[in-house]
Amino acid sequence: MSVEEKLKLLKEELEKIGKLNSSLALISWDMQTKMPKKAIEQRSAIIEYLAGEMFLLKTSDKMGAITEELLNNKDSMDDVQRAMVKLARKEYDETKKIPEQRYREFIMAAAISGNAWHEAKVNKDFEIFKPHLKKMIDFKREFVEYLGYDNNKYDTLLNQFEEGLTVEKLDKIFEEMKIGILELLEKIKKGNKKVDKDFLLGYFDKEPQERFSNFVLKKLGYDFEAGRIDESEHPFTTSFGNKDVRVTTNYNNPELTYALFSAIHEGGHGIYEQDIPDEFVWTGLDSSLAMSIHESQSRFYENLIGRSKEFWEYFLDYAKYEFKELKDVSLEEFYEAINVVEPTLIRTEADELTYNLHIIIRYEIEKDLINGVLDIDDVRDAWNNKYKEYLGICPSNDSEGILQDIHWSDGSFGYFPSYSLGNLYGAQMLNKMKKDYKDMYLDIKNGEFSKVHNWLNGNVHKYGAVYSPSELIKKITGEELNPKYFLDYINEKYKKIYLQ
Ligand SMILES: [Zn+2]
Repeated sequence: MSVEEKLKLLKEELEKIGKLNSSLALISWDMQTKMPKKAIEQRSAIIEYLAGEMFLLKTSDKMGAITEELLNNKDSMDDVQRAMVKLARKEYDETKKIPEQRYREFIMAAAISGNAWHEAKVNKDFEIFKPHLKKMIDFKREFVEYLGYDNNKYDTLLNQFEEGLTVEKLDKIFEEMKIGILELLEKIKKGNKKVDKDFLLGYFDKEPQERFSNFVLKKLGYDFEAGRIDESEHPFTTSFGNKDVRVTTNYNNPELTYALFSAIHEGGHGIYEQDIPDEFVWTGLDSSLAMSIHESQSRFYENLIGRSKEFWEYFLDYAKYEFKELKDVSLEEFYEAINVVEPTLIRTEADELTYNLHIIIRYEIEKDLINGVLDIDDVRDAWNNKYKEYLGICPSNDSEGILQDIHWSDGSFGYFPSYSLGNLYGAQMLNKMKKDYKDMYLDIKNGEFSKVHNWLNGNVHKYGAVYSPSELIKKITGEELNPKYFLDYINEKYKKIYLQ
């Protein structure tokens, strides 16, 4: 059999897996947006069945044999083919280490746990979720044993979101980032400038929020013929192929811009997924290789563009049309209000500086949970104490504390660092984009976003999972990830707001 024929066979197998994966994604989307309460047990059984079928395809002898033969012919393949084979083999090797029965049990438990998290959050009661969280931690600790580890058990989980990332590397990156942020926070505190954001708080009708979010997303390049916006407790993006990429937001927040910035964030993920080339769909290459790169795109749209003054030079008048409450607010006042630096309890409401402290808190807790250093009974206290230590505030209930994020409910330990890494990758990309495209912010001021979109597509989106984050950032900017760009960006931005 020729290499071409073997590649064709592999693609057929990957397509089956991809279609099952898309079906599972559609089912979970429904679960988080529309599903009636009583459906949870039956729904979890459907998920368990489909995930089990996927497990069998990923670990089949056929998959093992084709990927092995293809790996022996690496030199006769191009970058894309090689990446596809490498990824399929990695999935095969890793999934095969986990016993099928335990995998199925995990999938079932994760679905039920997600539901319990939702109930616990609504009731502001961590006790409802605690036994499920414990189960998720135990599963992940067990899986780490199957998968193996060198120095730190948590490394194995980090690797699932970013290959090659270790606690050792991350500690160094986060330390540099943390020092830079704390220094700037100290200066801001000493500067003693008060920024008013009270006009953003209050009750706002859903309809104008929805209209405005849709309008902004359309302008940014999110394709509503290949996607839609719905509502969920925790905003998210999901894709069933590049022609159906859905985002959600939440209009119930007492802060006017929460739903909008969540929609822009998820829209950034969505634009990425819609840009995936047709030939990558259901090949395993149809997303980024690492969540940090995905987050670099969502955070790029949300912050580097969405919280810039130029963006609001264009959009503020439209916002005033929808929200009469803003009629006397100046551009300067609005810009400062959406960039106010203050400790918040909720990660997704945080400013660009303190946001990363929320991530460091989660990172430290996860590491300790997975390594068995922190006990489940002490996790809520650990959370509250770290908020006091890092941000000087303490949650008054679990819903605004340990229950605020969905991630732990399905066992996604190791994901949180991706957000901060995404901030760092994004700022490094921005630095390069501004060199390539000098009128960038001038165009944004005029409501022209297609060139920004084209740049991101041409440098990031169109490659899907072909390159690792370190390969990609080197290819784009000529150097490894360097936190300096993010620190330069925040210093320049916030000094203008707070220290001039
Ligand atoms: Zn995101």
